[in-house]
Amino acid sequence: MKIFNGKVVCPRCDGNGLVYKSKITNLDLIIYICDECEACWKDEKIRLENFQDLTTFLESKGLTYKDAQIHDLGYEWKS
Ligand SMILES: [Zn+2]
Repeated sequence: MKIFNGKVVCPRCDGNGLVYKSKITNLDLIIYICDECEACWKDEKIRLENFQDLTTFLESKGLTYKDAQIHDLGYEWKS
């Protein structure tokens, strides 16, 4: 996992995006999202092999992107 200024660099778009922690309020679920390509991860293991497209992930939970209440918890989640 690559860290830049204390923030996690997205392995999918390689240096373009940073991964922020977020809570999908209407699912009561914490996920990690790239601010550039919208890859997402269900836990802190941010790897290229296990990302999911955010829209696909939300749809698998029965939500459209528009209906999802995504609450940004910030970039500094990695201790
Ligand atoms: Zn990305």
